[in-house]
Amino acid sequence: MNDILPDETPYWQFLEQSVQRVLASYGYGEMRLPVVEQTELFKRSIGEVTDIVEKEMYTFNDRNDVSLTLRPEGTAGCVRAVIQQGMLNVPQRLWYAGPMFRYERPQKGRQRQFHQVGVESFGIATPDMDAEIILISARLWRQLGIDDSVQLQLNSIGSSVARTAYRAALVEYLEQHAAVLDQDSQRRLHSNPLRILDSKNPDTQALLDGAPALADYLDEESRADFARLCELLDAAGVPYVVNPRLVRGLDYYNKTVFEWVTDRLGAQGTVCAGGRYDGLVAQLGGKATPGVGFAMGMERLILLLIELGVVAGTSSVADVYVVAVGDEAQRTALATVEKLRDQLPDLDIVQHAGGGSFKSQMKKADKSGARAALIWGEDEVAAQVVSVKPLRDTGGDGERALQQTVPAEKLQETLCAVLAG
Ligand code: ATP
Ligand code: MG
Repeated sequence: MNDILPDETPYWQFLEQSVQRVLASYGYGEMRLPVVEQTELFKRSIGEVTDIVEKEMYTFNDRNDVSLTLRPEGTAGCVRAVIQQGMLNVPQRLWYAGPMFRYERPQKGRQRQFHQVGVESFGIATPDMDAEIILISARLWRQLGIDDSVQLQLNSIGSSVARTAYRAALVEYLEQHAAVLDQDSQRRLHSNPLRILDSKNPDTQALLDGAPALADYLDEESRADFARLCELLDAAGVPYVVNPRLVRGLDYYNKTVFEWVTDRLGAQGTVCAGGRYDGLVAQLGGKATPGVGFAMGMERLILLLIELGVVAGTSSVADVYVVAVGDEAQRTALATVEKLRDQLPDLDIVQHAGGGSFKSQMKKADKSGARAALIWGEDEVAAQVVSVKPLRDTGGDGERALQQTVPAEKLQETLCAVLAG
């Protein structure tokens, strides 16, 4: 679980602000959901025989012996909330952001506490909503300036009836070649055989070339919806690749599934993943309501922003550093700078704290990276003035403007002129 430090948070803020802007522009409302839910919720939604539920959850009993789990993903809690809050009488467009927890092997792009933005839409079963969800993500990549480095992969995994038929055919085929399968795949052969499709093992992938194809088992409705989705994406100019082996690691998906992947981050290349989950609301006790959504991994997106050199605002360097020597100067400085903050609320001002000599305070001012210092020394206090000292070349001519000493009433004007170069 990582600490996120001030030199990295500007990327987070840039990402979060972009997300908020894009989602608001499509009419999505923000949910703030608990980080802890009853363990049962995740078992019933994600599925008992998935990596997440089998081995990745942080689960504990509370003082009342109720089994609770730190959420490993957001969809289950969001569905729980919309049922419990009676929100399913009209279509809902929702999003949330926050930490998720999975006990995995930490590595680049994989943490035990990581952050997702989740987007969920309830109540619309038609593929225009799948398209909307995908268009939102595509727009976000453009806003972030990473659209050239991510690729949309798309598949349909059909209805649960179609998947059951396909699963039987796949298992029959793989059983004949069980010796070629690695241990992981052998274990999944009877518990969750569809996951074998996205095995990273090259021998397994070669074996799958001869396996029955999921596409041949799709029900009519899933086939038609998928064709319509592709048509809508074509019309909107969003490129995609159909990946017939794309399946997701969570049991609740049906019909459309998709991932946005990049080749710029090594092994953990999926930055966003989602799909349709028409059965989930009913399965968790709500009235049958279709749903579709996705979750994006914030850490991986930030790695990508950094990798691509996308500038995300400046870090926390202040504009102005305040030097005040002695008790009297400190009192005057504090009061005057508070007024200055009222007048110039966008200015970042760091006030020297802890006392010290003029020389040591000026050293700190220089090191702070600020563009100007405000100085209250003994002379200034005696004459009831303040000095404004430029700390950087502003005119670009290698020359620093001169220090100016002015009465407090002229401070705002003088400082603005100095900062403007
Ligand atoms: P993966 O195949 O990478 O393990 P997943 O299928 O488990 O992904 P989802 O549950 O679909 O992932 O989560 C959506 C996104 O959240 C992922 O595409 C990824 O960007 C991010 N994510 C998932 N697990 C982690 C993690 N442990 N650390 C950082 N990001 C993660
Ligand atoms: Mg995973």
